[in-house]
Amino acid sequence: MNARPDVGKVYLVGAGPGSLDLVTLRARQLIEQADVVVYDYLCNPAMLAWARADAEKIYAGKSGTAHTLSQDEINALLVDRALAGRQVLRLKGGDPYVFGRGGEEAQVLVRAGVPFEEVPGVTSAIAAPAYAGIPVTHRDFASMVTFITGHEDPSKPDSALDWRQLAQLRGTKIFLMGVERLRHITRRLIEEGASPETPVALVRWGTTTRQESMEGTLATVADLVEQRGFKAPAITIIGDVVKLRRELNWYEMLPLFGQRVVVTRTRQQASALTEKLVRLGADVLEIPTIHIVPLPWEKARIQQLERIAESYDWLVFTSPNAVELFFAEFFKVHPDIRALGNMNLAVVGPATAHKLAELHLKPKIQPKVYTTEKLAESFAGQELSGKRFCLPHGRLADPLLADHLRDQGGVVDEWIIYDTQPEKADPTGTRARYIHEGAHWITFTSSSTAENWHALQLSPASGMPRPKAVSMGPVTTGTLQKLGYEIAAQSEQATLDSLVETIRHLGIE
Ligand code: SAH
Repeated sequence: MNARPDVGKVYLVGAGPGSLDLVTLRARQLIEQADVVVYDYLCNPAMLAWARADAEKIYAGKSGTAHTLSQDEINALLVDRALAGRQVLRLKGGDPYVFGRGGEEAQVLVRAGVPFEEVPGVTSAIAAPAYAGIPVTHRDFASMVTFITGHEDPSKPDSALDWRQLAQLRGTKIFLMGVERLRHITRRLIEEGASPETPVALVRWGTTTRQESMEGTLATVADLVEQRGFKAPAITIIGDVVKLRRELNWYEMLPLFGQRVVVTRTRQQASALTEKLVRLGADVLEIPTIHIVPLPWEKARIQQLERIAESYDWLVFTSPNAVELFFAEFFKVHPDIRALGNMNLAVVGPATAHKLAELHLKPKIQPKVYTTEKLAESFAGQELSGKRFCLPHGRLADPLLADHLRDQGGVVDEWIIYDTQPEKADPTGTRARYIHEGAHWITFTSSSTAENWHALQLSPASGMPRPKAVSMGPVTTGTLQKLGYEIAAQSEQATLDSLVETIRHLGIE
């Protein structure tokens, strides 16, 4: 359909209601490919990480606030970039055609001769109630559902909504954008004959880990919203289906729902811990404290790598990063893994072992307790005298292991292959959220994360919860105590699962 090959295309894509789990496959594929991404306030900013690093990312914002583009400016931008031959992704919260002005944007594109595709999304109008335990229809309670804009001023005589008709309508009523005008909406419905006892629920930031919900009736809900300071963006559900919440509220019943947990790891490493916590319902703030900077390989080092099988008896890895960066360089030099020869491998713990397993390599030594000290002790049964060790690691690696191997007569080469630097960027706004809203728990998986976090000197605004520290392993605990942190708990084992289990217990207490 693209008649003019020099013209790009605009994809009007639903970003879903907020949770990354609820994005369509087509949306993800298009985000990965786009030249330009124009996104909204309601799109989960974590999705932008899927975009190409060189893609142009433009925040179109939320209507009615500063730092946003007007609808005309957005339209002009989409047309302009597409006519310049770019593939433009217009990402909109929920579904583009449900109160998203997607229809208007599509019309503008058609009139400008710009080809477009529309990708439906999971609308918050259905998903947010579902995540608060409310099916929008149910044979016993509602056989129809109406989606209504709350943007209309109900007191306007020329309102596009017929309030009498709405009040008499059966089934479920779902208001979007209705929080600010909730008092008018509920009053008008009661005035026009709806029962004041009709159940009402509101769901804020539905399906995300920061979801909040509340309940009342047409008569009481406006006061309750005011008392709680409950704010947009929220879906308002009016009707008997709200009663099902008591039985069906699976999401808010997850063990860590409502618990905000800070995860301090590098951007590359955070996801495994975050995933485990999110599955238990926690609101995770991933705040990277450092990032890994691979160091350039010198010529002499590359020559050593060329002869690695002849030069060493043992290759020892103390971090997944080291495995990744070592083998990235290894495969540049050797096309075949067998160039490792009969090399013995040792790792500090399961995450590092997992990285090796991806290459179908199995370590000979892996201590049961995952510390450098235990790794050093695990060599006890081996003949070390005269054996040659290669230790590729970061600049801040614990010297204990190399010292121990040397003490036992080993010949040890330490290869510093990466450095760590403090993370200053806050592309997803998570740091800002931590400062505004605080958190309940903060996880530390190593001494260096503790030190790096401390160096950032971030603290929540006054009145907001200050997180209690949960540490993985005795060394990390020691470092935290030295830095003056109060430890809520130390995980039984130095694994992510054990850490998560510890928080789960604390969260329930
Ligand atoms: N196209 C969007 C709706 C855009 S109108 C969709 O299909 O979901 C903006 C309104 O959507 C907000 O005022 C709020 O009422 C609702 N909304 C969007 N995301 C939401 C979420 N995660 N939780 C609650 N309400 C949400």
